[in-house]
Amino acid sequence: MIFYVRSRETIPCPDCEAKLTVIGSRKRGLIEYSGEKKVLIIRRLRCPGCGKIHHELPDIIVPYKRYSSETVELIISPSKEQKDDYPCELSTAKRLKIWFFLLRNYFKNTLLSLTFLYDYEEALSKEIQCLLFRLNNSSGFNGWLKKLVRYLVNSGRWLHTRSA
Ligand SMILES: [Zn+2]
Repeated sequence: MIFYVRSRETIPCPDCEAKLTVIGSRKRGLIEYSGEKKVLIIRRLRCPGCGKIHHELPDIIVPYKRYSSETVELIISPSKEQKDDYPCELSTAKRLKIWFFLLRNYFKNTLLSLTFLYDYEEALSKEIQCLLFRLNNSSGFNGWLKKLVRYLVNSGRWLHTRSA
């Protein structure tokens, strides 16, 4: 299954905010919770301002993770019924949990700093408050991880770690 990734909005460079131009594409594998494997075609973008190369990441992707954001979310915060029932090796699930445990404070602090840095509209800052609540209480709405990823990637604050 091959999917082409196209965002409707024009994406600004996370480093200098110039408008990115498309220069090509590359393939990216993705595993869903069901175990289904997908291939995404992701556009390579170049910034005319600072010359950096970026990739257009849809929010179903967690950068540097092989599983979809929905899958990673389910693995790091499973419901009681699905405890220890993962779509991946137990060791992979453990690595993902440790990754999230280690970065949780970074995520919280970064979201907080974004609310101060950017003059977000009310709806957006409300969403960030919901995300912060989710990170503090480990309960709340589904789909929080892809929102978190989007805020961090779009602001150039995603941490590149080597793990699951
Ligand atoms: Zn730039």
